[in-house]
Amino acid sequence: MNQKLEQLKTLKTNEEIYYYLLSMTKDMVKRGKKNESKKKLYYISAEFLIGKLLSNNLINLGIYDQVENALQSLGKSMAEIEEVELEPSLGNGGLGRLAACFLDSIATLGLDGDGIGLNYHYGLFKQTFKNNLQTEEKNPWITKESWLTKKKTHYKIPFADFTLTSTLYDIDVTGYESGSNKLHLFDIDTINENLVTDNINFDKEDIRHNLTLFLYPDDSDEKGKLLRIYQQYFMVSNAAQYIIEEAVEKGSNLYDLADYAVVQINDTHPTLVIPEFIRLLMERGVSIRKAISIVSNMCAYTNHTILAEALETWPMEYLKKVVPHLVPIIQTLDRRIKRKYKNEEVAIIDKQKRVHMAFIDIHYGFSVNGVAALHTDILKQNELKAFYELYPDKFNNKTNGITFRRWLLHCNKPLTSLLEELIGSEFKKDAMNLTKLLDYEKDETVLSRLLEIKKEAKVALSDYLKKTQNLTLNPDSIYDIQIKRLHEYKRQQMNTLYIIHKYLEIKSGKRPSTPITFLFGAKAAPAYVIAKDIIHLILCLQELIAKDKEVSPYMNVVMVENYNVTLAEKLIPACDISEQISLASKEASGTGNMKFMLNGAITLGTEDGANVEIHELVGDDNIYIFGAKSDEVITHYEKSDYSSKEICEKDAQIKELVDFIVSVELLAVGSKENLERLHHEIISKDWFMTLLDLKEYIEKKDEAFKDYEDRKAWAKKMIVNISKAGYFSSDRTIAQYNDEIWKLN
Ligand SMILES: *Cc1c(COP(=O)(O)O)cnc(C)c1O
Repeated sequence: MNQKLEQLKTLKTNEEIYYYLLSMTKDMVKRGKKNESKKKLYYISAEFLIGKLLSNNLINLGIYDQVENALQSLGKSMAEIEEVELEPSLGNGGLGRLAACFLDSIATLGLDGDGIGLNYHYGLFKQTFKNNLQTEEKNPWITKESWLTKKKTHYKIPFADFTLTSTLYDIDVTGYESGSNKLHLFDIDTINENLVTDNINFDKEDIRHNLTLFLYPDDSDEKGKLLRIYQQYFMVSNAAQYIIEEAVEKGSNLYDLADYAVVQINDTHPTLVIPEFIRLLMERGVSIRKAISIVSNMCAYTNHTILAEALETWPMEYLKKVVPHLVPIIQTLDRRIKRKYKNEEVAIIDKQKRVHMAFIDIHYGFSVNGVAALHTDILKQNELKAFYELYPDKFNNKTNGITFRRWLLHCNKPLTSLLEELIGSEFKKDAMNLTKLLDYEKDETVLSRLLEIKKEAKVALSDYLKKTQNLTLNPDSIYDIQIKRLHEYKRQQMNTLYIIHKYLEIKSGKRPSTPITFLFGAKAAPAYVIAKDIIHLILCLQELIAKDKEVSPYMNVVMVENYNVTLAEKLIPACDISEQISLASKEASGTGNMKFMLNGAITLGTEDGANVEIHELVGDDNIYIFGAKSDEVITHYEKSDYSSKEICEKDAQIKELVDFIVSVELLAVGSKENLERLHHEIISKDWFMTLLDLKEYIEKKDEAFKDYEDRKAWAKKMIVNISKAGYFSSDRTIAQYNDEIWKLN
């Protein structure tokens, strides 16, 4: 090791150093311990939003400090070296990031479990802003030397009209002071990157050359949907062949496959693995009856959402076009259910000949889990009630978690050091030890040091955003942050209405005691028109306020470009107020909320997803909760009695805020078409009930800003939040998955 670090000191450029460390790390993992057991977990997911890997791997291997010291003697720092690494954007948001946190925890707990997914060449698009609008560009990340290791593993993947040959690429997954596992990403050798014409447009029908080009190609048309089915089948056929091969090598006779493998199906995208396993077992001489029973004892399903549009259903016609060989199996699976239950509601193939992917998972898997307590309750009592009545024992909850290696040890070193100094380092292995921090709730020195660390993080973020995006932030202001995918249910539009309220207040002479910076980061799906209009509104407010000398000393709006894991790691430690304001019942869990809490931000949120559990842990005094509860919201949907139009007509203040979207001020910096469309959407539809909670939101947020003025009392809230965050370690989540679902040794 020391010799290797001596050699490091002979290198000059940041690139040389990065690639040297990359190959050194891969080497160490290769020679290090592997997690092994008879039964193995396979976590299949269309997304793994892993983020940059160098620092994380060095931390997990226990050599981060040594490397940082060696770099310092060269006059360099890890932060600079990391800039060379490109972030693989193999996920959209929370779901993909969760899969990445899980891989880290699985390895850390010494469990034998690999991830299986696809090697997208361009991943999720890169976001840029032009004329206050989002534009999308391809987002390459694969360089000649990278974390990928090309393997000699190939499979034949049959489609209706042709067969593709796959190639496996592996990425090492290091555990924190533990053995390693692998992330298996399948690809084809015939990918043609030149197929991309402009931005992110490409020939969607040229499957041999486009299959793994992009993550989630736009599926607003039939071609996009078909490509998605091609991707999904390619992923799961590779997975199933790989899993059977490994099990047989270990001595499985196929009938005992479930003693060798357990498969976690992350959301419905990998669902076709169930009929594919059945097909492959039948090819190997197993009867269909037996094959169904083997597979049903091996597969478990995680539900991530109750948004109807996200519960995938594929028209039977599409499946016939792409994977006709699975169709008879799916029909058999459906017939058995129809025969057994005589209830259309739980049928796999409905009257319109659509195949309900989640229903395959529920009937033919042994476990169905939600991702937060409230979410699992809603699944049982509402969305999947009919299934819960059939299979009460299959349903269980696994509240999401995050890996503290990345979201504390790596992203917030000053806070980590303070914690170590105060409570020792056990919290790094067992996060529940963070509760020891509560002893310092009244310690004035500790409270001020916490505030200093927060201030340093704000300065660091300001410097970084200045350097990389030429944005100017005031580190003496309150940092109020909403970073997550842009979706109406997450209600960034409600945040903008507050911003308009504050802007008008300042215009009328009422100034906040401490200036406020409203930070946003969010990508909108390329075909999601209203989401893009909301981005437009945020960017217009940013420009309007920046140009207004009366207002800009007191408030600013900053939307970062291309929000991703790397930016999240810089934004979260700097946050004072964490915006978690989804419409109650719509956010299954959230994990951003957990990252913020762990880094000492105070949550401003609705009783939704894991916010409910955060609220229970920290108590009323250490969180700002507002808005309608989930049962109220569900009732509004059932009765269809919510009308944003009525609210506007009855409440002049709300009307004023909403109408400001199409004010002369905003039209002067924005586009009439976009702003008018958004305005119209809010006053005539507002499907996610922004206006229902707006008044309460304004009140709560003002209360939070007022409380912020008492710095010591605020720091005490920070302490409580950090000390109660241990529950949200993904190590806890994974231990529960293993105890209750996977049961590896
Ligand atoms: C954690 C994370 C998310 C999920 O955020 P939510 O607020 O839970 O939606 C999305 N994107 C990135 C880059 C993340 O790190």
